[in-house]
Amino acid sequence: MTGRPLPRCADEELGFGTVITDHMLKIEWNVERGWNHPMILPSGPVGLHPFAHVFHYAVECYEGMKAYVDNNGSVRLFRPEMNMQRFRVSAKRMSLPDFDGEQLLKCIETLVDIDKDWIPKQRGYSMYLRPVIFSTTPWLGLTQCAEAMILVLCCPVGPYFKSGFVPIKLSVDSKYIRAWPGGTGNVKSGGNYGPTVISQAAATANGASQSLFVYDKHEYVTEAGTMNIFFLIRNEQGVKQLITPSLKDGTILPGVTRQSVIELSQQWNECETVEKMIPFAEIKAAFERGDVLEIFGTGTAAVIQPINGIVYEGKEYKPVVPFDDSMLQVRLTNFLIGVQYGDIDHPWSHVV
Ligand code: PMP
Repeated sequence: MTGRPLPRCADEELGFGTVITDHMLKIEWNVERGWNHPMILPSGPVGLHPFAHVFHYAVECYEGMKAYVDNNGSVRLFRPEMNMQRFRVSAKRMSLPDFDGEQLLKCIETLVDIDKDWIPKQRGYSMYLRPVIFSTTPWLGLTQCAEAMILVLCCPVGPYFKSGFVPIKLSVDSKYIRAWPGGTGNVKSGGNYGPTVISQAAATANGASQSLFVYDKHEYVTEAGTMNIFFLIRNEQGVKQLITPSLKDGTILPGVTRQSVIELSQQWNECETVEKMIPFAEIKAAFERGDVLEIFGTGTAAVIQPINGIVYEGKEYKPVVPFDDSMLQVRLTNFLIGVQYGDIDHPWSHVV
């Protein structure tokens, strides 16, 4: 970026988003001319007017997806059309210009192909792709967007868990509210994320590594940090259910992994799959009955994140089933990873 070769490191040393690949995609828009030609450029700084709306009013949104190399050396994406669709929905909510998701995906595929040598080949490794769109409108008045830019950045990443599955603890945060009906919780805009960093510190103070966000006096469960959350429980009638917060009230990000887990759970039909509003008291009661069997988060970064405890008002609640390989979450993980790396032939895997 400064004329020096970009830093590369051994795959084993890769963190999350610390190494940027050689190239980035850049597409500019303005209200008179529409979208300009997409450009693939050396990764580097983008000069913006100091008044650009993104700096002052957080007019932006982004996506997160991964490219994987299969055993034949082909590059694969996982359900990328869902990311493009969500990116458009987020952009609309932020009054950013619309774009053609299929065309953007083609540009992303070209970028990924150019930088494919950066994708680590080892199993568990991949290249994270970060599309972002922001308003570059160069004045301080808060108006409709007049200028915008899309960037797509790539970074090689290692497995989320270097030593296999490591369950984490959550801490219920009823002080800092991540999302509420009518807000922006259901879109991937940066303004949802910055204000949650403070909550991380509170989670750490409670001996947990992520916050479980809730809202309202009913403490409806929303998300686990930056993951969707699932509980495998026996309900009061003894029926086994995989439950996750519903998308209806607009507080939940419609995760690609979430949707995939719901579809797989419905197909496997080992339990009922239920999307609904979940007051935390319902989970607490299930813990007290000994009816919480499994808890996990879902997201592109970790795929599935096992959760082995939730701290609520100073007390830790734990699922009754000790962690083992026959758990639903382990089988879901193995299936999803198998599809992502092309070991399992499945329409969700998209060869570039
Ligand atoms: N919830 C939030 C708040 C997120 O940021 C993410 C990551 N995109 C997810 C859930 C998981 O979504 P996905 O499965 O599409 O990565």
